[in-house]
Amino acid sequence: MKNDEPLPGVAGLPGLPGRRTLLRGAALFGLLAAAGCSSADRPGTPTKTPTPAASPAPGPPASRPQNASAYRLRPMTGMGPPRELPVRPAVRAAPILRMTGADRRMVLTFDDGPDPRYTSRILKTLRQYDVRAMFFVCGEMAEAHPDLLRQMADDGHAVENHTWSHPELTRLTRSAIRRQIERTSDLVDALVGEPPRWFRAPYGAWNRDTFELGSALGMEPLAWTVDTLDWREPGSGTIVRRVLDGAGPGVVVLSHDAGGDRSQSVQALRVYLPRLLDAGYEFSAPRSMRI
Ligand SMILES: [Zn+2]
Repeated sequence: MKNDEPLPGVAGLPGLPGRRTLLRGAALFGLLAAAGCSSADRPGTPTKTPTPAASPAPGPPASRPQNASAYRLRPMTGMGPPRELPVRPAVRAAPILRMTGADRRMVLTFDDGPDPRYTSRILKTLRQYDVRAMFFVCGEMAEAHPDLLRQMADDGHAVENHTWSHPELTRLTRSAIRRQIERTSDLVDALVGEPPRWFRAPYGAWNRDTFELGSALGMEPLAWTVDTLDWREPGSGTIVRRVLDGAGPGVVVLSHDAGGDRSQSVQALRVYLPRLLDAGYEFSAPRSMRI
């Protein structure tokens, strides 16, 4: 069953041979070097989630790339006029756990989809209350249900990156991690017209490679503040209570719209969303951690 429960003892594979060779092309190397981070020939250093909040990235929030494919890693030299490079987030050492600058504003996130059995119902509820959310999709699910991705985008939701097939990234080589992330960004870009700005590692299994590659692909790492643990199917009432108990400014809520029976997640949303709105909360799908 898919879920994003942090795995105990998640460990990177230390000293993968030939890892350096996976940094193909001067572009990525140059980007990483320019950011002051070292190259990839170090053991993975997984970070369990939740962890202490990362420091905000310096400077103003990143702006959108000028065109839909600008996030891709490209050579920095070539013929013709200088190509505008994407604004790339700083390489973090831990994922973001909550948003800042929020005044009774929260973020709802749904992972592992889209799944037509549940995502459509979640979209319907969000539409009913005119609320925007973030969907961390898996590429293989998005490829199977492209209309749902377009519906998300049409409704104003953010379509974000949750890898292609939901692997435990800390067990993969750097090049395999990159394929998981980049292929998903490519598909989202192709389907909704813009690439993801946020990346979430399955199971909360992060390491330095995930932070570096996510950054190089123009994405910030986002974890969560409140885990509904809905994948354990605790009953919709328990999910509701967890969300209401955890509500607060800048809080990021983790739920799932795929990976198992998500009827309880669907039902819980119908209960906690109007209650939070009545309590004065607003919801957004932020492009940066400042909402
Ligand atoms: Zn997941």
